[in-house]
Amino acid sequence: MIQSSIYADEHEAFRQSVRTFLDKEVVPHFPDWEVAGRVPHELFRKLGDLGMLGLRVPSEYGGGGTDSFLYSSVWSEECARAGVSLGGAATHMNLVIPYVVRLGTEEQKQRWLPDMAAGTRMGSIAMTEPGTGSDLAGIRTHARREGEHWRLSGSKTFITGGINADLVVVVARTSEHDNRRIGLSLFVVDTTSAGFSRGRNLEKIGLRATDTAELFFDDVMVPADHLLGEEGQAFRYLAHNLVQERLGIALGSQVSAEKALRITIGYVKDRKAFGQPVSSFQNTKFELAGCHVDLTAGRALLDQAMRAHEAGELTAPEASTVKVYCTEMQNRVIDRCLQLHGGYGFMREFAIARMYTDARISRIYGGTNEVQRVIIAKSLGL
Ligand SMILES: Cc1cc2nc3c(=O)[nH]c(=O)nc-3n(C[C@H](O)[C@H](O)[C@H](O)COP(=O)(O)OP(=O)(O)OC[C@H]3O[C@@H](n4cnc5c(N)ncnc54)[C@H](O)[C@@H]3O)c2cc1C
Repeated sequence: MIQSSIYADEHEAFRQSVRTFLDKEVVPHFPDWEVAGRVPHELFRKLGDLGMLGLRVPSEYGGGGTDSFLYSSVWSEECARAGVSLGGAATHMNLVIPYVVRLGTEEQKQRWLPDMAAGTRMGSIAMTEPGTGSDLAGIRTHARREGEHWRLSGSKTFITGGINADLVVVVARTSEHDNRRIGLSLFVVDTTSAGFSRGRNLEKIGLRATDTAELFFDDVMVPADHLLGEEGQAFRYLAHNLVQERLGIALGSQVSAEKALRITIGYVKDRKAFGQPVSSFQNTKFELAGCHVDLTAGRALLDQAMRAHEAGELTAPEASTVKVYCTEMQNRVIDRCLQLHGGYGFMREFAIARMYTDARISRIYGGTNEVQRVIIAKSLGL
């Protein structure tokens, strides 16, 4: 089977504790959480106790103090192996915490990071709005300075983990410029603030145990010391952090497609048609061999990108390239695997059916694959 070459012994030891945790604390409850459309908040405290959430948090703020992405990738692989997806937790540890670690003042880090590492305060990131998704510079949520506060108004949608969130990193316009990329700022909004409200937990075709929310900000008075990073520089920060977000999506896609191949190999050996195993047909062999070829190429590309990211050298067009390849490959592979399940592949009680609906989003979020192609084309001088 496809092997990654990037892990060391410490990552494999960590893998064992993640596997035990998922099998005990997540897998038995996951079907109920899919029905509920969210995971219980207590799960995050357990993840905090495991040391999972705070891996990237410096030790002086109660975390594991590693700057490596490889532990998060082990987590992602093990979630895929277990057939579960915990989008809120992934957003919190891979997206929100890195913003605070990288941009927070000493006082902000002390204020938020220990609770974020412990899982007592969970974070979401709110960029997308009902009127603008791909065109981030078109954000209309705005904040105006009033004394020691910012008055924040606007609405966001499709926010992963937004129902469970205690803190939301909100992108808002704080000044107007001809260059629309200037004048956006980041604010950490406490969800207990007056004027903050949540809309629906949106009903999705996949990733059903992950809450996805509409959020409303109606003259929320955000304390001035909740501004994260420099005023007006959010676009630059987002562009920087989206590199890792896209790599994470590519990884999730790769590992779920690898799992699809594994379970399909098992299925076609068991299932009989015309008195023989489905695996005996040449079409089945060729389809699955084709999936293996796709996955092997994806793994090589991903390992190369992860190495570059660990060295701090992964560029935006490279991250876009690996996101496009792995997410489109995931959709191809899972579709072929589902076909080999026949009608059972269309039944949600079969893992492959849930993987099919879960996979569709990977070409859309983190910036659609069309937006990734725009970035790649620009790097080609087009
Ligand atoms: C399950 C889920 C979770 C999400 N989680 C979050 C989150 O946590 N935080 C957050 O901020 N957002 C989140 N999003 C939002 C997501 O990032 C956006 O949906 C995505 O960026 C696309 O924006 P849009 O939906 O407004 O589509 P639009 O921007 O309206 O795009 C519509 C179509 O036009 C195409 N298009 C747009 N611009 C171009 C162009 N220049 N060239 C060619 N084609 C183009 C797009 O590719 C797409 O096919 C999430 C979305 C979903 C569905």
